[in-house]
Amino acid sequence: MRRKLAAGNWKMNGDAAMLGELADLAGAQGAQGDDAPEILICPPHTLLAHAVAVTDGSPVGIGGQDCHPAEKGAHTGDVSAQMIAATGAGAVIVGHSERRADHHEDNDTVRAKVEAAWAAGLTAILCIGESEEERMGDDTLQIIADQLHASAPDGTTGDNTVIAYEPIWAIGTGRVPTMEQIVETHDMLRDELVGRFGMDAMTIRLLYGGSVKPANAAEIFTADNVDGALVGGASLKAADFQPIINALAAS
Ligand code: PEP
Repeated sequence: MRRKLAAGNWKMNGDAAMLGELADLAGAQGAQGDDAPEILICPPHTLLAHAVAVTDGSPVGIGGQDCHPAEKGAHTGDVSAQMIAATGAGAVIVGHSERRADHHEDNDTVRAKVEAAWAAGLTAILCIGESEEERMGDDTLQIIADQLHASAPDGTTGDNTVIAYEPIWAIGTGRVPTMEQIVETHDMLRDELVGRFGMDAMTIRLLYGGSVKPANAAEIFTADNVDGALVGGASLKAADFQPIINALAAS
């Protein structure tokens, strides 16, 4: 019912030489059955057009890592969703915890970015997740639910949005929640989405993100409401990302 998705976030990594990794990844994909996972790589904006060219004709899609809420204007250094779409990319990550922390992006800003992505015809990969302090507290699930509702605009559907649950304390740390926590959180997110958007929300894909590696991917993908992963470090090399794609295909 929901197509699985393996999404890679290169963050501020990547140069022309790394396009070779992308070519290797594209070349490694065999014939795609109907249930083959969707594959997406989000390189830095400087590489978007090159990445689109390198993966052209392959099952690997390309996305941006952030967009400005406005279509154009006096916003030095920013990139609009329209600009990302014009490169041939089909998606954009919004609300990543590194953007929320480094650029003080709040839920209102993130929600506006999701709407900007939709207006440009991009799929929004909307990131949410709790801090370590919030995880240690008593109302962790409520905090995550509140962030979901405040960041996801009305009109969120399985066609225009993917939700990536990424505990901040698990990103780039090698630490991963227990399977019980992963299941509990993703089940809660599904319930919240269905409660707000109705049964259509059963088509909204939920990704887990935070130190996903070839060694732990298969176990994480056993959770019913985990429809794939948003992967940082292990998406930089085709040899690391491919086993994660394979684990998702086998799940
Ligand atoms: C991320 O950048 O969204 C991420 C989950 O990173 P990592 O896989 O390196 O923890």
